[in-house]
Amino acid sequence: MKKELKNLIEQVEKKKKYLASIRQMQIASVHRFILYSLSKGQLVESHDIANNLNIDIGITTKHLQTLDEKDIIKFKEGKIKSAYPFATKPTRHEVKIANQNRTFALCAIDALGIPSMMRKDVLVTSSCPYCERSITIEFKGEKITTKPNNSIVWQPTKKIEGKVADDLCPHIDFFCNTKHAGSWQEKVGYEGISLSLEESIEIGKFIFGGFLKE
Ligand SMILES: [Zn+2]
Repeated sequence: MKKELKNLIEQVEKKKKYLASIRQMQIASVHRFILYSLSKGQLVESHDIANNLNIDIGITTKHLQTLDEKDIIKFKEGKIKSAYPFATKPTRHEVKIANQNRTFALCAIDALGIPSMMRKDVLVTSSCPYCERSITIEFKGEKITTKPNNSIVWQPTKKIEGKVADDLCPHIDFFCNTKHAGSWQEKVGYEGISLSLEESIEIGKFIFGGFLKE
């Protein structure tokens, strides 16, 4: 993978290691419950988790706080705000998994990781921040169709100080071509890297491929 992504990859490795270490524990079932709910576009609160998994609400809250500390979810003021790769509010990246309700991804890379995580057909509908042209990526079986077909992903290469969801995700977008990504980079004024769709899908798979493993 590109050396500019070293910082991001390090963050991802840390999260994957943590998730592997909790796989057999109750906290992992809380994490999975959140992901399955958000994948269907269903918002989820602490009491839903406590009721559905039959876990004491106090313990549920502790699990959510721990997942937040590890930057696996964002849990603030008693509410689940996001859980990689899903947002709980509309973003530029709408995702439809099989024939379920629409949901939203935190960033372009997260959207592209969802097919490997859910192992289902996925339609991603986004747009180029520079010209607002619609961009779609359809995963159907082994086939991936991108429109327009020279769309790319651009992301800043700045060092991640806080949480990826706050610091980096809002800036990782699809662009309808390299030129628009370049113009965007000039406009926002920070260094970034353009990734082909193939590279971005590989990164998405690397991050989210094992997220729902039991
Ligand atoms: Zn464009």
